[in-house]
Amino acid sequence: MIDLTTLTIAIARKKLDAKEFSAVDLASIYLGEIKKKNKELNVYLEIYDDVLEQAKIADEKIARGESTPLLGIPLAIKDVILIQGRKVSAASKILENYLASYNATVIDKLAKQGAVFLGRTNTDEFAMGGSTENSAYGVTKNPHDPGRVAGGSSGGSVAAVTANLALGALGSDTGGSVRLPASFCGIVGVKPTYGRVSRHGLIAMGSSLDCIGPIAKTVTDAEIIFNAVKGHDILDSTSIVDTTYSKVTIKKVIGVPWDLINGEGVDSKVQENFTQSVKKLEILGFKVKDISFKNLDIALAIYYIIMPAEASTNLSRFDGMRYGLHKDGKNLLEDYLKTRGIGFGKEVRRRILLGTYALSAGYYDAYYGKAQMIRNMLKKEFALAFKNVDLIITPTVPSVAWKIGEKSNPLSAYLADIFTITANIVGVPAISLPSGNVLIEGKKLPLGIQFMAPHGREDFLFEIGKKFEAL
Ligand code: GLN
Repeated sequence: MIDLTTLTIAIARKKLDAKEFSAVDLASIYLGEIKKKNKELNVYLEIYDDVLEQAKIADEKIARGESTPLLGIPLAIKDVILIQGRKVSAASKILENYLASYNATVIDKLAKQGAVFLGRTNTDEFAMGGSTENSAYGVTKNPHDPGRVAGGSSGGSVAAVTANLALGALGSDTGGSVRLPASFCGIVGVKPTYGRVSRHGLIAMGSSLDCIGPIAKTVTDAEIIFNAVKGHDILDSTSIVDTTYSKVTIKKVIGVPWDLINGEGVDSKVQENFTQSVKKLEILGFKVKDISFKNLDIALAIYYIIMPAEASTNLSRFDGMRYGLHKDGKNLLEDYLKTRGIGFGKEVRRRILLGTYALSAGYYDAYYGKAQMIRNMLKKEFALAFKNVDLIITPTVPSVAWKIGEKSNPLSAYLADIFTITANIVGVPAISLPSGNVLIEGKKLPLGIQFMAPHGREDFLFEIGKKFEAL
């Protein structure tokens, strides 16, 4: 019997290589679990019909002794990452039944290792949101409390790993979409340094912010996936070379922006839990220091200018002519209006309007230009802060997972991103780790802590992450 609840990628690797079970056995068990739970949780939008064939090929490689860290490991892939010949919809009606014409670089890398792709997972439409409530295909439920959201936008991938419907997963993170659901579900989510993992084959949202990130049950597993997908890629012009690390020495000091954490809108349970985590870090021998940033409180405002501006530009390619849905009007303009009006959901249309406005003549300097200026200032402030601290920590999200339908006002959902967006604005790597639970209405709901590290220093995150999770 394979116990999925305690199984990790690292353990599965050993057992697969020792022939304690086969990749086909493992994949079959996951398929069985998916069959049992997917209807209720709405994690997968599609389960691939060749999972067992993929696993069989992995078994042949294992038999030949060609082991790699992810050979035969069943993974879930967010529905914004292209796998050649398979459907990819960004959870949108405009791309319903669209077939990817090439592989994302991350998929090529995982396939080369012999990972087994189970299926594509639910997300907010075009990754716009923090709950999957903006998916055109229904909300993904939180495995800890099905009355609540799993978080988003990578909610399907995170819920899959949490509910043992995959051993690991890939998500994408433009403003927190890997870390926020990881916090809501009590698992590990990593947003790498901008450019560290190729964006080639990721359906673009905000191109200067988008990152593909690993989702797993443990830090070691997240590191295994990260190592498999990272690396320079000539197909992504913003990809960085592996050796461009910040030259920083370990100081054993952690910075905490207490102003922001003790500020308005942060749940007192989150603040309490965070204070406990800080104490644990002190036990680990870290000096914890109060730090403040002049521009941190407006990071959220500039994110909601830059991201829609870039998204509105990126989404202009969905015009009904080149990809997916096409609706006929009386003329070309009507074709566009009809296709985009029907194909895009409410939140996507809201952001296209917002972004187009921020980029329009007469407003560009006042909005987009100013937001970019503050972004640069914040980047400098972070670079300066990392001269004195190894890591900057915050809670991952200012609340526990919300109830489905609770945040019908979009602004209240945007506020949930207050701690996560900065890492994307600045481009630094960040991780969300489980930091305990709170009991609410009889349900144990997870909370998360976020660590941010200097540019290129994912190794700091993995090192401290392993120590923190062992406490
Ligand atoms: N919740 C944020 C937003 O709605 C982040 C989304 C993301 O990271 N893809 O934009």
